[in-house]
Amino acid sequence: MEDLIEDAKLRPILDSRGRITLEAELSSSGIVARASAPSGKSRGRREVVAFPKGGWRTALRVFSETVREAILGHEVHDQEGFDSLLREIDGTPNFAKIGGSTAIALSMALAKLGASLSEMPLYRYLGGIGPKGLPRPVGNVIGGGAHTIGGPTIQEFLVIPEEESFLASAIRAAEVHARIPDLVRGRKGPIHLGVNDERAWAAPVDDREALSILREVAGEMKIGVDAAASQFFDGKRYEFMGKRLDPEDYVVELGSLVEEFGVFYLEDPAAEDDIDSFRAIVRAHPRVLVVGDDLFTTSPARIRELGPEGVARAVLIKPNQIGTVTDTLSAVAEGRRWGMEPVVSHRSGETCEEFIAHLAVAVGARFIKTGVVGGERTAKLNELIRIEEGLGAKS
Ligand code: PEP
Ligand code: CA
Repeated sequence: MEDLIEDAKLRPILDSRGRITLEAELSSSGIVARASAPSGKSRGRREVVAFPKGGWRTALRVFSETVREAILGHEVHDQEGFDSLLREIDGTPNFAKIGGSTAIALSMALAKLGASLSEMPLYRYLGGIGPKGLPRPVGNVIGGGAHTIGGPTIQEFLVIPEEESFLASAIRAAEVHARIPDLVRGRKGPIHLGVNDERAWAAPVDDREALSILREVAGEMKIGVDAAASQFFDGKRYEFMGKRLDPEDYVVELGSLVEEFGVFYLEDPAAEDDIDSFRAIVRAHPRVLVVGDDLFTTSPARIRELGPEGVARAVLIKPNQIGTVTDTLSAVAEGRRWGMEPVVSHRSGETCEEFIAHLAVAVGARFIKTGVVGGERTAKLNELIRIEEGLGAKS
């Protein structure tokens, strides 16, 4: 029996920054599925656009005038056909007409509706019947860059607890997060600390101090950074640690920090178009998980193009960078074809949407980067805790 989309809605809701994002609702046979789009701030140049010109109001108008009618009656379990239809209705390479937020909210809502109608957990609906394990959390504990005013240049300082269960790992990350203010005060005196967009601590420390705090607090745990280096590259030089550096010198400078502090996870160490520096970093640090975010923007075509170049060991997977669930899954597959593992990720602007928790389990990701505290972050962590319980002790 076919399951057809009987109703479709799109509404504005608030994200964690208090800005408007979009939530889609699709229904069939009395079941309603809902999904909302997150929002990035430190965005890759090749990401799909969030809203058409005119913003979210135009997105709502375009939805009611051209998208809604076209998707009503579509088969719920034909995700690929639905996602192609969205691309067809849009007709641009980057969802400039209907908006990427509309596209990803609808696409994720369809997958959730399909899972509900199939009476299956979403991770199984998306990931099939094979054995499933839980990822481990990559937790942002100190913030800088575009997410934080007055912090270090590097955007994210990350801890990676790998306890025996996901639950124990999430608790460990939260304990580390809670210890940061005291360690900062130990170096800077009795100051007040706030949190940034991703609820990482915004601390008046430089990159070296942040790394030293991170190393101290992490103990034996793996640590990582998201340099988000496009943000401090002007096309010729990197403005890093108070110096203006040529790419060759920057790679050496960053590389020495990576070695000194034993950084395992290294996201966007170079600017998204500085392919030579990516390649040099991958070669120079054979045991480091070099992750491409702005570099790939979850684009299967971009991953295919850069696959043979040896520029990364992992692909950051953010569904709203590419706009559909089908393309997100293709990005995972394309990355694996070139020997790169997927790392599933939130955005700095989030909702309590838990889709990426299921996605991480569905694709068998070793890591998920989704923050440590704050309702919009713990929505994902807590969903993973529930999934772990559902899977039993084998996670
Ligand atoms: C990131 O750069 O990895 C990130 C989550 O930030 P944003 O969502 O602002 O792009
Ligand atoms: Ca990033």
